[in-house]
Amino acid sequence: MELLENVKTRVYKFGNKKADGNRDMKNLLGGKGANLAEMSSIGVPVPPGFTITTEVCAEYNELGRDAVVELIKNEVEASIANIEKLMGTEYGNKENPLLVSVRSGARVSMPGMMDTVLNLGMNDEVVLGLVKKTNNEQFAWDSYRRFIQMYGGVVLGMKPESKEDIDPFEEIIESLKDKRGIKLDTEFSVQDLQDLVYDFKDLVRKRTGLLFPTDPWEQLWGAIMAVFNSWNGDRAIYYRTMNGYPADWGTAVNVQAMVYGNMGDNSGTGVCFTRDAGTGENVFNGEYLINAQGEDVVAGVRTPQQITKLGSQRWAELAQIEEEERKELYPSLEELMPSIFEELNGYQDILEKHYRDMQDMEFTMQDGKLWILQTRNGKRTGAAMVKIAMDLLKEGMIDEKEALLMLEPNKLDELLHPIFDPAALKRSNVIAQGLPASPGAATGKIVFFADEAAKYKSSILVRIETSPEDLEGMNIAKGILTARGGMTSHAAVVARGMGKCCVSGAGALKINYKKRTLTVGEYEYHEGDWISLNGSTGNIIEGKVATMEPELSGEFAQIMELADKYGVIKVRTNADSPKDAKIARGFGARGIGLTRTEHMFFEVDRIKAMREMILADTVKVRKQALEELLPMQRVDFEGIFEAMEGEAVTIRLLDPPLHEFVPHQLATQKELAEDLHVPLQAVKNKVAELEEFNPMLGHRGCRLGNTYPEITEMQTRAIIEAALNLKERGVICKPEIMVPLVGTVKEYEAQEEIIRNTASLIFEERKDSVEYLVGTMIEIPRATLMADLIAEKADFFSFGTNDLTQMTFGYSRDDVSKFLPIYIEKGILKEDPFEVLDQEGVGQLVKIGTQRGRSSKPNLKVGICGEHGGEPSSIEFCYNTGLDYVSCSPYRVPIARLVSAQAAIKTTL
Ligand code: PEP
Ligand code: MG
Repeated sequence: MELLENVKTRVYKFGNKKADGNRDMKNLLGGKGANLAEMSSIGVPVPPGFTITTEVCAEYNELGRDAVVELIKNEVEASIANIEKLMGTEYGNKENPLLVSVRSGARVSMPGMMDTVLNLGMNDEVVLGLVKKTNNEQFAWDSYRRFIQMYGGVVLGMKPESKEDIDPFEEIIESLKDKRGIKLDTEFSVQDLQDLVYDFKDLVRKRTGLLFPTDPWEQLWGAIMAVFNSWNGDRAIYYRTMNGYPADWGTAVNVQAMVYGNMGDNSGTGVCFTRDAGTGENVFNGEYLINAQGEDVVAGVRTPQQITKLGSQRWAELAQIEEEERKELYPSLEELMPSIFEELNGYQDILEKHYRDMQDMEFTMQDGKLWILQTRNGKRTGAAMVKIAMDLLKEGMIDEKEALLMLEPNKLDELLHPIFDPAALKRSNVIAQGLPASPGAATGKIVFFADEAAKYKSSILVRIETSPEDLEGMNIAKGILTARGGMTSHAAVVARGMGKCCVSGAGALKINYKKRTLTVGEYEYHEGDWISLNGSTGNIIEGKVATMEPELSGEFAQIMELADKYGVIKVRTNADSPKDAKIARGFGARGIGLTRTEHMFFEVDRIKAMREMILADTVKVRKQALEELLPMQRVDFEGIFEAMEGEAVTIRLLDPPLHEFVPHQLATQKELAEDLHVPLQAVKNKVAELEEFNPMLGHRGCRLGNTYPEITEMQTRAIIEAALNLKERGVICKPEIMVPLVGTVKEYEAQEEIIRNTASLIFEERKDSVEYLVGTMIEIPRATLMADLIAEKADFFSFGTNDLTQMTFGYSRDDVSKFLPIYIEKGILKEDPFEVLDQEGVGQLVKIGTQRGRSSKPNLKVGICGEHGGEPSSIEFCYNTGLDYVSCSPYRVPIARLVSAQAAIKTTL
């Protein structure tokens, strides 16, 4: 074993049309390393180099620096020798020096999250050799000062001392610029650059107490280890956590011969895309700078120029620059260096065809020679993603299955909700981070109370947490922000249903209702202050950020049609109102998997009757109150059935604990007492009586219907009468009545009996009937184990994975945000199990429940209606487990349709 460990390859070489690795080795070589190898083998000019594998990163974390140097020393030395041979130079040689770059590269691209060092191998003697060799003093000294600056920051850890300070090296640069009265780095004289080198080294000595390392090999090892370290840097950890990338992936390290874009006016560097990453339009585009190194393009000190003439003209129009001035000051690469442009244009074509996807490339021109430094599948907006996939399909570059598989389902969301104007977003200030509970972009004035949401034209409801009482205010507000609550908190579930932007569980927020202030660190915001929320990233942004309405493209419809061609598992929606049902149908939902009837009770005119019902001391009074609710429920159900004409509609009986419906504030309690002509104390007593230690495990679900059968009777009547009314109007509806929170067979049987008896009674009264099903939620672990017995009675099962997760883990849905972020940070949990179905644990129960259910009723209809029904990996699991449908909030329907297709396609590959 030991021996085998030592013979495995840890370093992969590439260069001169050859490579040890290839594009399929992303896990081992990282995305950048795998693509450099691939490009090298297909003849694209990449500077020669080598990749140290991601496995070595893991070894480094385990064994430390010395052991890792020992493990890879021979391979690294041999690989440097290979570069030397190909470049005809020598690492550390004073006359003919080779300089190298060291870059990170994880299996997925993590832009800007890890570290890079350029120009390694430089010292006081090598710089003189470089001057002689290139006959370019300016360039050689500029490279040297850049090297010390980067190495100092990345390897020696010389960062700004506090957040108010700027980079210590930049401080020296800025003061020299001031002294010399110049603006740009390119204006430095050779003497200036030499002074900078001197001052930088002095700074290193003062700050670290060490002399700047002059030995090229010491520099190289320092940089390699720094890149490994950067995998565990704050930025990288944050990015990994946000995207759910596991800590054990590690990063590869790419070492390459340096090529220079800063060797004068015949050199330059740039970034380009084979298609437009914003819109998906099939136009080659990008930016470059003459006489510059890579970081200059990104840093934004100089204005980058456009690659193509067309792009340059479009840019000038936006910047309001006259054509003459544009040509003179900002010429495109196409105009300035036509032959290099042609070559680059050729490679972009080759690479896009080779990878059969839009490419994001980096290139450098060194003294008239073009080098490609990197290619990768380009990041893109949701709109661009859809257009590019459809265009590649139409161009015959990919087939239908490939087009569907290349789409990232969650990105479809961007197409459905208002979006921030990207330019405005760039200038914005993110003040805190919460959970991206419901996507979209919202901007508005802060209000702290739901009943004040209408105070401003655009408001953001900021709450410690929301309760169902806030529903109306949530509906009015443009977005919802809560300090507590996870992805299945009330705020999150309701917001997703409404398609409303919501950021939840932002622990850094301190909300003071009395003072009406929101404090984040040292910032304090007041009611009426502007704030913006990005529900897709969880960012909380200061001030007003401009938003735009999305437009659904023709390509979107085509992609969805294609998805339905391949999708097997059906997609229903969770909808509580006719409006939601219509929206979901517009997005292609094939039926409703869950109508939560309780949401209807919170509307102003209904909550009173509902409270009257709850406060009733006798069955008679309770029945009277239910009589009042009956017509209201019936009308709602008619609306929902109509919106879903021809498709199945599952309506769930009352589920939440009753204390959620009674007023908790004194003023509202008084109002209610007056309305009902009862003493205030009676209201107070009832509220106190309904208090529970664990409401989620308390008097809720079918326990309500079994203790107050008249509630079940009333709801059944509303459903069946609505269906009969529609039948009279010629509208086909397929009601499915669902019993919540069943744990024992008897609990189900007792409810079923009431439902069936009530329905029969109505059929007799009306001399007419409709077909309907009675089934149950499976959301208590015990129910999954008893599924064979329950299925003997029930027509269908619907997995309520919110409660099933809560009860399987024993985590309260409402309190999870207190420890979940820490669990995820520490790696105790990989992800939020309320968001992504825990296939290992909870998933077993879903499998057992399905298998046992179908063992006694083979054609048992089985679906899922927990929040996981809209989450891609969970949908795939449901398909593989043999469920008939998933049900998700309206705005997630297109995502679920796409995943349904992807899951089915994957099993055929
Ligand atoms: C569930 O528990 O998964 C479910 C859909 O019901 P609710 O979220 O309303 O408890
Ligand atoms: Mg539930």
